[in-house]
Parts: sequence; C-alpha cells; structure tokens
Amino acid sequence: MTQAKGYAAQNATEPLGPFSFERRDLRDYDVQLEILYCGVCHSDLHTVRSEWGPATYPCVPGHEIVGRVTNVGEHVKNFKAGDLAAVGCMVDSCQQCNNCKQGLEQYCEVGMTGTYNSRDRVDGSNTLGGYSNQIIVTEKFVLHISDKLPLDGVAPLLCAGITTYSSLRHWKVGKGHKVGILGLGGLGHMAVKLAVSFGAEVTMLSTSPSKEADAKRLGAHRFALTKDLEQLKGLGNYFDFIIDTVSAEHDYNMYLGMLNTNGVMICVGAPPTPAQVSAFNLIGNRRSVGGSLIGGIPETQEMLDYCAEHGITSDVEVIAIKDINEAYERMLKGDVRYRFVIDMATL
Ligand code: NAP
Ligand code: ZN
Repeated sequence: MTQAKGYAAQNATEPLGPFSFERRDLRDYDVQLEILYCGVCHSDLHTVRSEWGPATYPCVPGHEIVGRVTNVGEHVKNFKAGDLAAVGCMVDSCQQCNNCKQGLEQYCEVGMTGTYNSRDRVDGSNTLGGYSNQIIVTEKFVLHISDKLPLDGVAPLLCAGITTYSSLRHWKVGKGHKVGILGLGGLGHMAVKLAVSFGAEVTMLSTSPSKEADAKRLGAHRFALTKDLEQLKGLGNYFDFIIDTVSAEHDYNMYLGMLNTNGVMICVGAPPTPAQVSAFNLIGNRRSVGGSLIGGIPETQEMLDYCAEHGITSDVEVIAIKDINEAYERMLKGDVRYRFVIDMATL
C-alpha cells in the first residue's frame, strides 16, 4: 500500500475536506500516476450529495485526471515512469462481454467500474477518484495525452470532452446539420467547440444572458436566451439535433418542439428527476429522444488525439483544492466558465 491524500465527502450534506487513505499495491498491469490536475464535473456534485442514489462514504470524487506516471507493474507495456497520462470516468470493466469487446466499456454488460464510488473488481473496495495526489489504474484504462497542450485544459476532455465527442460522432453530426446546444457549462462548452469543428451550424440555448459573448467566442453561430420567448422565434422545427447538457429539472417538451423532421434530442445531462415527455412531441415530425454515456476507451483516445491535432482544450478556471466547496456552489448557479480544474499542487 502507498499513502495518499485527497479531499473527500464524509456524507451527503457536509462540505468536502482533507482525507488521508491508502492506494493498493501495484498489480502486474497497473500504472501509478501522480495527479497534476483534476477537472470538476457536475457528476461529482450529484454523486457526493447522493442525488443519484446513496453514495458510499468517504467519497473522493474526480474523473477528469491528468498526471505523470511514477511507477508501472511488471506486465505494463505502453507506459513508463515519466510519461504524461490521463484517466477518465472508468478504471475497469469485465473486458469479456460484447460491449467491452467492441470498445464500449462504458456499457459493459456486467457493469463498468467507475473511477470513484464503485467497487474494485479484484478486492471489492470502494474506488476513490482524482481529487487526490495519486491514483493506480489498470493499463487498459489509462490514456495517452499530448505534451503540446496545456494540461489543465486537457483534464476536462476526459469526461466533458469524450461525452460530447461520443454523442456527436454516434449521430454523425457535421456539415449541413443545425445543432442546438442546451446549457453552457462544462459539457456544453465542449459540445460547442466540437460541433463547430465537425462543421455543424451551432446555436447556443442558454438561461444566462451573460454567456452570449462567450458562446460566440467559443464558435457558436447563434445564441438564444431560453427564458425570452422573443429570442426563440424562428427556432420551431429548426434543429436536426439538440444536445441537452442541463444538470437540473427542465422542460424537455419546449426543446422537442424545436426539432425538425427526424430530429433527435440527445440527452447527456443527467438531472436526478425523471423527464416528462409528451408523446405528441415525438409523433409530430417523427422526433426521437436518445442518450449517451461518456465514451469507450478507444474512442476516448481517438478524441484526445483529435483534440491534440486540432488544438482543442477546455476553457478552465484553475482552483486550489481548498476552494472546491465554493466551486460546487458556483457550479450550481451556472457560474462556471467553463470548467473548474483543481491544481493538485495545492493539496
Ligand atoms: P455544469 O457545468 O454545471 O453545466 C450545466 C449547465 O446547464 C449550466 O451551466 C447551465 O447553463 C445549465 N443549467 C443548469 N441548471 C439549469 C436549469 N435548471 N434549467 C436550464 N438550464 C440549466 O454541468 P456539467 O458538468 O456540464 O454536467 C451537465 C450534466 O451532464 C450533469 O447532470 C452531469 O451529471 C451530466 N453528465 C453526463 C455525462 C454522460 O456521460 N452522459 C457525463 C458527464 C456529465 P446556462 O447557464 O447556459 O443555462
Ligand atoms: Zn464527468
């Protein structure tokens, strides 16, 4: 075992605080990383507050991890001490089922092992995530990252980046498509950058008037304030796709009405409460609602390589780890531009 430190939630209601714990001994296929930066995803907040169901405490969240390899197990082939490396939302899966064999480990039929709040497949312990100084992960779930991009801006690619990349790729979004992005936060701003880079016409649909200039700077062609009906005029039956990144309860029917014939509303946001969808909004225009969970390991590497080639990173506000609870409160208010990233040197 090696000694590690991080920040943990001890229950669903109290703020996160310093926490010491042990990481397992290195297994033969393990890679050990010193964590340099970890992004702050809204899923961290949903989890530590048990909004998606009871979490296991102490809970160390964090699944947008970049760092440097410090040690590798005997059978590790693709990493060595000193390499830059990254870990996203998963640290293991069965690797035998049909989905795992296709590189869709996020849909592992037995259940993937999350980077935090999950059970380790070998020893059954609760997995502890990236708000910490080091992590040990089996090689298959460790990614290569470029040394050409700023590391703090790369961290959010491991969840916000892959989640939006995978959904855009699955539905083959690109040139000739009109895409609405709902919610300009961590996922939303990556969705704008990626959809624009794939050649789509992008409209930002936001509740925050103060984000209009940023949306345009990120590449959006249009901006509509969803609280102002005037600004929604002309958007009825308009989009081929809407990527819904909203983290809280909202009206799905209003946005379904903006989809053109065969339009798809792609839900990546995961509000704790179920959505109400009127069948009439699906029947009309033959619309559908779909969803997508992060992305598999091969596609995550493809996304990281794509972003390195095209110079795409996240717009980040780097914080000290002691400010994590304040960052959560700001994220809840939609006051994030556009991803908080913890500088682990502050731990
Ligand atoms: P975030 O940074 O907090 O962004 C969410 C944005 O949604 C806010 O900035 C805000 O944008 C908008 N919003 C918030 N509350 C709203 C409300 N009541 N009505 C309308 N809009 C609202 O969160 P995130 O990290 O991007 O995560 C977004 C959601 O995706 C979370 O539920 C998270 O758990 C989920 N997620 C899913 C996956 C997946 O695999 N599918 C992966 C990661 C995260 P505006 O100010 O522009 O309105
Ligand atoms: Zn996430």
